[in-house]
Amino acid sequence: MLSQLRRIVQDVAQEPVLNKALAGLVSNVKRALNTECCSVYLADYQQHFTLMATDGLNPEAVGSISIGFSEGLIGWVGQREEPINLAQAHLHPRFKVTPEVSEEKFSAFLGCPIIHHRKVLGVLTIQQGENRVFSEDEESFLVTLGVQLASVLVNAEMRQSVSQSSTQQKVTGQLQGLPGAPGIAIGEGYVMEPSSDFDDISLRKTDDPEKELSRFYKAVKITKAEFNRLAERMSAHLPADALAIFDVYHQLLEAASLGDEIEAQIHDGWCAKSALKRVVEKFARQFDDMDDPYLRERGTDIRDLGQRVLNHLLDTEQRHHKLPEKVVLVAENVTATMLAEIPRHQLVAIVSLKGSVNSHAAIMARALGIPAVMGLDELPLFHWQEQLLIVDGYRGQILMAPADAILAEYQTLISEDAQLSAQYLSEIHLPAQSACGGRFSLMVNAGLAIDLETSHPSHTDGIGLYRTEYPFIVRTRFPTEAEQVELYKTVLATQPGKGVVMRTLDVGGDKPLPYFPISEENPFLGWRGIRMTLDHPEIFLVQIRAMLRANIGHGNLHILLPMISDLSEVDEALRLIKQASFEVADELEGSEIQLPKAKVGVMVEVPSIMYQLPELARKVDFCSVGTNDLTQYLLAVDRNNPRVASLYDAMHPAVLRALHQLCLQSQALQFPVSICGELAGEPAGVLILAAMGYDKFSMNNSNLAKIKWLLRRVHLSELQLLLPEILACQSPKQVRQHVQRFLDQKHLLNQLRA
Ligand code: PEP
Ligand code: MG
Repeated sequence: MLSQLRRIVQDVAQEPVLNKALAGLVSNVKRALNTECCSVYLADYQQHFTLMATDGLNPEAVGSISIGFSEGLIGWVGQREEPINLAQAHLHPRFKVTPEVSEEKFSAFLGCPIIHHRKVLGVLTIQQGENRVFSEDEESFLVTLGVQLASVLVNAEMRQSVSQSSTQQKVTGQLQGLPGAPGIAIGEGYVMEPSSDFDDISLRKTDDPEKELSRFYKAVKITKAEFNRLAERMSAHLPADALAIFDVYHQLLEAASLGDEIEAQIHDGWCAKSALKRVVEKFARQFDDMDDPYLRERGTDIRDLGQRVLNHLLDTEQRHHKLPEKVVLVAENVTATMLAEIPRHQLVAIVSLKGSVNSHAAIMARALGIPAVMGLDELPLFHWQEQLLIVDGYRGQILMAPADAILAEYQTLISEDAQLSAQYLSEIHLPAQSACGGRFSLMVNAGLAIDLETSHPSHTDGIGLYRTEYPFIVRTRFPTEAEQVELYKTVLATQPGKGVVMRTLDVGGDKPLPYFPISEENPFLGWRGIRMTLDHPEIFLVQIRAMLRANIGHGNLHILLPMISDLSEVDEALRLIKQASFEVADELEGSEIQLPKAKVGVMVEVPSIMYQLPELARKVDFCSVGTNDLTQYLLAVDRNNPRVASLYDAMHPAVLRALHQLCLQSQALQFPVSICGELAGEPAGVLILAAMGYDKFSMNNSNLAKIKWLLRRVHLSELQLLLPEILACQSPKQVRQHVQRFLDQKHLLNQLRA
């Protein structure tokens, strides 16, 4: 049952043309359940369900029968949002006669809704002539299928429209994702695929088989050369019978074997990657099903071989696509490495198919000041290549190949945004203070090389968070101590006389190191940040030594420890910092040079540590609140998971109350505190934080001018009046409404597009 279900869903997912996918679906379900009719209806924007495919009803009705959301049994299933199982459908009061579908011969009816994120996408039905209620097994099969199909069918219209674009015709459409970074940009989709797993390849047709064939031959040639090299290198270490595997691989690639099949598939219209996937999976599955353990193993060989050819195919494909003038980078997960590969002046926006509002890809986009849309993984990657795109980072929307009138409208919005930015920037040199003279420290969050290039050191109060993991991520191995010293020196030198808060390596979660993969069920609750580095003192000590050595001659280093959840971690980190200080001081002995003392602080981002603030204040010099993680851990919502994105909100009253208490407590303890999470860079966020009493904020460079401009227009007394209202709110929505009303009263709302 399970494998039948999986196959049915896979077939739908892999067929690029929606109508064909649904036609295949209904026939497969009909066969699997041994019933007489299966149909599928999908919802449209006009509150109708349209019959999209049927095996059993009048095929001519497909595409032309529309049933209102409140009409007939189909509408009833949609309204009730649960299966309806009837022995005599025509006797049900909601039954509506639809002569065009010719269903008089059927009596039994089982309809099941297809629901994605609380939205009914469609209805799946089975029908039979016999007067009987469908069994519980049949019902649960259809329910399970509906659940699995939902994520495949969401954005189905879009899939439908873009699937016709395999011939690169112009198509239009709108996709809804999550707003990752504000702003609007127009550019061309440029896909980057780091992974080359067959599971990630979606099947696609081509209109140029000759070109695909030549790409395939080229990949085979490179793979064969690779085998020759491998065989030669291994010949000294492996016995002759083991080396024979390379001959087998060579033979498999020959035309008479797999090669032949793949060529035939390409002639059939499949692109090279798809043809390879289809053939490799077919043969591998055949071997997997064999009883003989030796032959079963050959399935693995076929996959390995296919994987190598695929890698070379992807390599040539990547080179084949020219970098457009205005790049909208599209990837499953946008990484710092990908960003580093695209010249900054060409990169206009980011689309990350995975991830959510405060994923690090979104934070990087905000740091670069470019819009980002997240969490659009229903549309396979290949659809994005070379597409003209409008990326609306305010609303989390993408418009594909928009009409000229729409393009013109968005161009206007882009120039309005540019005017607003210029307005904010015109005050960047002025003091960061409220209209009544209350002073703030505004610092920048940095880590990407570009942050240092674009920041305005003379107009800010230092670097409030330097994420050291980014320079680690863009390398292919751990940077040496000397490399780190050089890097940190450059960073410290940009801020003479001002503090630079360098955070020790915070990898894990959604920031994996390519050369140190960590595979965990719950990465955000796992081996992340200080937990990993304390387990690897050799990494931690090298980094601390490098920071301390870089600080010689600058004296502005502050060390920040991420992901502290327990005081013992602070003790252990302090012990290692002391050890590293002794080591560096030892090296300096006999010279005139003094080792400056670095302040040490802790990120408050795991809720537990908020309840140990007095102890913490006795151990370290300062703390910095990471609202991104604090929100995720207080609300138990993965910041990287688009499914729960609507629950992830730093404006949640519980988060705000926690932040308020933290502020009061740190004031009572005279424990310096700053905010370095994304909330500080949001207009509404910074106003609420200032109302609570926070006055040190670190944020993305691109937000700084706007935040300074805003703070300069408010009086602290007005904010203090706003605070009780905010703290009494019951939902993030209410909080936002209060702040918006406040901004509106002050005539600031229109000048802060949000
Ligand atoms: C935070 O968690 O708020 C933070 C600033 O750290 P990061 O976003 O890098 O996890
Ligand atoms: Mg964090």
